[in-house]
Amino acid sequence: MRTLIFSDIHANLTALEAVLSDAGKTDQIWCLGDLVGYGPDPNECVTLIQSLPSLTCILGNHDAAAIGLLDTVSFNQDAKVSASWTTNNLTPSNIQFIKTLKPMVVKNNITLAHGSPRNPIWEYILDSYTAKINLENMKTRICFVGHTHLSSIFIYNEKSQSVDLRPLKNNEKFKLTQKTILNPGSLGQPRDNDPRAAYAILDTATGIFETHRVPYDIPSVQQRIIDAGLPERHAMRLTQGW
Ligand code: ZN
Repeated sequence: MRTLIFSDIHANLTALEAVLSDAGKTDQIWCLGDLVGYGPDPNECVTLIQSLPSLTCILGNHDAAAIGLLDTVSFNQDAKVSASWTTNNLTPSNIQFIKTLKPMVVKNNITLAHGSPRNPIWEYILDSYTAKINLENMKTRICFVGHTHLSSIFIYNEKSQSVDLRPLKNNEKFKLTQKTILNPGSLGQPRDNDPRAAYAILDTATGIFETHRVPYDIPSVQQRIIDAGLPERHAMRLTQGW
């Protein structure tokens, strides 16, 4: 099955529309959480996500904060401002949809978690040590995560019991044969100095995984962030992807 995988939309409708159009026809869609937070279009994004066919969507930490499941005490000041704006602006039916999301699911024998399989809501897999602990305790061979906003791959080497860790660029292709954790990067707020929206395609029959980046109209999103009175920093960072 041709599977579209993305994460960390962060209420960026323009990037979401660009990815859906660029990816074309797919058999199923996996969304790895953080539909909202930072961006200006939480309702538009949640409504569009809900309408997608064959969707599996999990809960991210910003989604959990938006529905009052997670305290924002550990968020930085700008993220706090944006989280409370999001809570106040989400419609009751969109809040209801977010409340139905689970923090971790298994689809096609692949684990989907926002942060990590060990701690789906909060843990960041950024280094080989954290990846190794998660890889050694995974119940499936493959796991997809988001949360760091960095497109990356962590492959477990059974012989040396070590992890090969690599950041991923546009148009990289892998056949998944070993225990692996993959992060498709962030759709709506990339932080790897490539401002284009990130997504991935997995063919579940062949195990072939491909990374993709697609440009979108960043200035229009930045204008909506400013018009909504959201922190300017969240608009500025979209230009360079940091
Ligand atoms: Zn995020």
